[in-house]
Amino acid sequence: MKDCLFCKIVRGEIPANKVHEDERAIAFEDIGPQAPTHTLVIPKEHLSDQRGIDESRAELMGHLIRVANQVADKKGLKSFRTVINTGAQAGQTVFHLHVHLLGGRPMNWPPG
Ligand code: AMP
Ligand code: ZN
Repeated sequence: MKDCLFCKIVRGEIPANKVHEDERAIAFEDIGPQAPTHTLVIPKEHLSDQRGIDESRAELMGHLIRVANQVADKKGLKSFRTVINTGAQAGQTVFHLHVHLLGGRPMNWPPG
């Protein structure tokens, strides 16, 4: 999508510190890290949010989780949190589906 920030990162029009890339997904470091590890895993295809995961894309979601696992392994994380914010009230600010991978510090529950 033309004006989507994360589509621009996928196309290489905006720089990002990429830690993974394959045919369907990329992972890159969050610009405002909320934990020692804060990596975003996104599909290359533009989907505004988790609601874009229909039956035909169920496998894509599994792929994003597998990439998050691989990044966690690469960073030596045994414990981590994955977060997907859906909608502004839930804290979504970039409307291209992304999985936050957070780790390297104790996490509280419930989240804010
Ligand atoms: P969310 O609030 O769930 O939509 O998450 C969006 C995330 O994208 C935030 O954690 C931002 O810090 C992050 N972000 C925004 N712009 C960039 C960028 N240019 N490169 C990397 N991360 C970004
Ligand atoms: Zn996009």
